[in-house]
Amino acid sequence: MFETPSKKDICNGKISDHCNLLSLLTLEKIHKENSIICLEAHVSNFPNEIEKAHFFGLHDFIRLLKGKDVQVYSIEPGHEFFENEPVINLIGYAKDLAMIKSTLTGILAFHSTVVTKCAHLKKIAGNKPIYFFGLRKLHPSHIMQYLEATYAGGFEINATDLAKQIDPNLEISDCQEHVSNIIADDLIESWRAFIKISEQYGGIYIVLDNFSDTVTEAKFAIEKFKHEIKGFLVDTSRTRRGDIVQILKELKWYLNLYSKKEVKIGLTGGVDSNIIKNTKDILSSFGVGLNIVSGYIFDFSFQIVEVDSKPKSKIGVFPGRKNVYYCKNCGKRDVDIDRDVYKKMCCNNEMEKLLKIVDLTSTKENIDYIMESRNYILSLV
Ligand SMILES: [Zn+2]
Repeated sequence: MFETPSKKDICNGKISDHCNLLSLLTLEKIHKENSIICLEAHVSNFPNEIEKAHFFGLHDFIRLLKGKDVQVYSIEPGHEFFENEPVINLIGYAKDLAMIKSTLTGILAFHSTVVTKCAHLKKIAGNKPIYFFGLRKLHPSHIMQYLEATYAGGFEINATDLAKQIDPNLEISDCQEHVSNIIADDLIESWRAFIKISEQYGGIYIVLDNFSDTVTEAKFAIEKFKHEIKGFLVDTSRTRRGDIVQILKELKWYLNLYSKKEVKIGLTGGVDSNIIKNTKDILSSFGVGLNIVSGYIFDFSFQIVEVDSKPKSKIGVFPGRKNVYYCKNCGKRDVDIDRDVYKKMCCNNEMEKLLKIVDLTSTKENIDYIMESRNYILSLV
């Protein structure tokens, strides 16, 4: 296994494309390394099905830029952005920004993509929790970044002890997996053992879909354990699924029939937006992994839009330092030039500038940025 890059290496520009170094060497040759540039981050093309995205990653920017002579303007963590809207402007020496441009772009692309995917599913799920079960789909070196982004996006992350590094207040809990049920000589014996340890170790629901049909096993478990059953985790194999929504409705029907309405049902495996939409009224929670770690990525780019305070950019990029102007009254958004004395009006009010100066000396912790994003996204649910 290769070494995971250290925070120090990342901040010192070691995680760079070779073209970054070639740019720096060229700037030095032409004596332009001390030019003041404005770099603007935006996404010019959203993936087909996506209209609205959520921004995240500012906390990593602050760690990277601390101590550098750079001004940062940014939108708020977790807040929306649209195609071609600037989300961050960086103003500083070309020599300071050249070597970290790729790193900064990667941070934005990663964090905003994961947070947007989570926010999308969470808005559909409403008040039903979605647990991040993606640890087993990832290289372990990247797990902390996924945990912070999914938590910022409104997911629950307490199905791994690692979550405590992000939020020490979290209580760790998880459902049963199939392992002990398969190894045991008797399924009942394994379920019983799990139920007995559950309180002490944060185990919540026993898992169904071991050796028989979902509903058959649930009926069997209720007959054996009666009031001891708090919940079931449904993890039906793809080959046995047929109509998973109908299976879950049937399971719920039996729970009502047996006067076990309080028994909760969690679902994992292949959970997507359609399944959440069609089952959120009968389920208590969802487990999502693959859906978050696969699929589209926002194609962020950092483009030069100003050189020594003059608008300048490559062809296809609108030159000039911009802001997103927002009308609190009618919700109108407009991308326009940002100048200190420049005001835009809408509905008889001055429009708010969504990119605001960031205090790089702030003592805020990572968890503060994560919670700002999380609270904002949960407020939309
Ligand atoms: Zn307006």
